[in-house]
Amino acid sequence: MTEPTADAVDIAILGGGAAGALVARHLLARREVRVAVVEPRGVAGLGAAYSTARPEHLLNVNAARMSAFDDRPDDFVDFLAALRGVAPAELTGVFAPRRDYGRYLEDRLAAVAGQAGLDLRATAAVDVQADGPGYSIRLADGRTLAATAVVLALGNLPAALPTPVRGPGPEAAVDAWDYDAVAAIDPAHDVAIVGAGLSMVDTLLTLQANGHRGRIVALSRHGLMPLSHAPGTQPQTGGVEALLPLGVRARMHLLRQWAAEAQAQGGRWQDALERLRPQVQALWQTWPAHEQRRFLRHAVRLWDIHRHRIAPEVGATIAAMQADGRFRLHAGRLEAITSTPDGRLRMDWRPRRGNTDAHAVVDRIVNATGTEKRVDRARGPLLPALLARGLVRPGPHGIGIDSSPAGQVLDADGQPVAGLWTLGALRTGTLWESVAMPELRGQAARLAEAALAGVDASR
Ligand SMILES: Cc1cc2nc3c(=O)[nH]c(=O)nc-3n(C[C@H](O)[C@H](O)[C@H](O)COP(=O)(O)OP(=O)(O)OC[C@H]3O[C@@H](n4cnc5c(N)ncnc54)[C@H](O)[C@@H]3O)c2cc1C
Repeated sequence: MTEPTADAVDIAILGGGAAGALVARHLLARREVRVAVVEPRGVAGLGAAYSTARPEHLLNVNAARMSAFDDRPDDFVDFLAALRGVAPAELTGVFAPRRDYGRYLEDRLAAVAGQAGLDLRATAAVDVQADGPGYSIRLADGRTLAATAVVLALGNLPAALPTPVRGPGPEAAVDAWDYDAVAAIDPAHDVAIVGAGLSMVDTLLTLQANGHRGRIVALSRHGLMPLSHAPGTQPQTGGVEALLPLGVRARMHLLRQWAAEAQAQGGRWQDALERLRPQVQALWQTWPAHEQRRFLRHAVRLWDIHRHRIAPEVGATIAAMQADGRFRLHAGRLEAITSTPDGRLRMDWRPRRGNTDAHAVVDRIVNATGTEKRVDRARGPLLPALLARGLVRPGPHGIGIDSSPAGQVLDADGQPVAGLWTLGALRTGTLWESVAMPELRGQAARLAEAALAGVDASR
């Protein structure tokens, strides 16, 4: 048996989704530096969002806004145009398949990693420990990696079903991010989807593409699902400062007013929402903690469905599935999922309105509950280990982990940890909007710069 070996790099990036790949790309493009990316998928750039091979899974942001680089806004459109052999002008408003976006990120990383030599580890990180001036990272494959600096790019934490499946047959529950498992669902089977966000949308699209004939029901607490982008949205501009001093209720009131004004002038409510785009982090950060809590308690779902919209053609497909009765969305609280003696699954819920419990008996359950924001509920060994060591602490409201404005991780005492960085979804509690490419690309470029400066200073 081979003894586990210890290897050393300057910067180890834990998580090789879009964010980790972009940090690696910036590091390697700047100068010679030893970079490792630890990613169980064995490929950097795909992550949960772009590892789908399904053509029906579209980006929810149009191509013109999906460049991976702030200083080259046309980069993705140019890549897509070359891929399809069409003029870039034809593609700016297009919602491209997410798999094409994965290819794009892989391509942009390969352009620099080919020369510099990226150390890609097809495994997970299970623990990180301070070791002298740097860190020792324990990997699931038994090896240990030494690094001067570490970047936590773990992305969205997957959420568990709110209740486990009782009785035999838990294999009948599949995860919405397991794209192959969803695609393998028998088209004749009845399916219940738990959750009604973007992961439910993915599941519906795959079932539809496979000619699903069985009944499909979805359950979510509010019974709300993402709304559609409007083609030809004309974003209103300016005036967002007026919202900054206001609490949750007053902001919502003003937003409704803006939406009504946009519609009165022949526009769409989406125009008013787009006006907020450059200021969403400021809108979150200017709220005191009690207003943030109020937002999380009362308004977050409404915000999500208006803000994280789906491509118009995707919205039309789902509306058609609802109209012809193939798909029904219920509002209620999941009470139990139990396997039945004939090998099916019974899902019980308490409807949001009314006193009588409801249930559906199906063949398959899909967990589309999306992302777990609370770090103390993170699955897998790494985050619990970091919390236990006091190297990280939960972010505001327990969401993600705490970090400085530059993305440096704060320890259990709130002190910046030298050489430990993070970006993306783990910063949601601090920044609120910190998940999609329009935020990630800037974070990745700045973080690479700061991490390199830290490595230089420690030499
Ligand atoms: C279904 C879906 C659709 C989306 N669509 C869009 C879109 O159209 N446009 C947009 O801008 N944004 C979209 N997003 C947001 C998306 O999250 C970001 O664009 C981007 O993919 C986030 O990248 P990330 O690297 O931060 O996270 P992820 O892509 O989640 O990558 C994190 C990686 O970390 C790895 N990892 C986790 N734990 C460990 C560990 N212990 N050790 C090593 N590796 C680990 C995981 O395997 C994963 O690959 C979508 C998100 C989802 C889930």
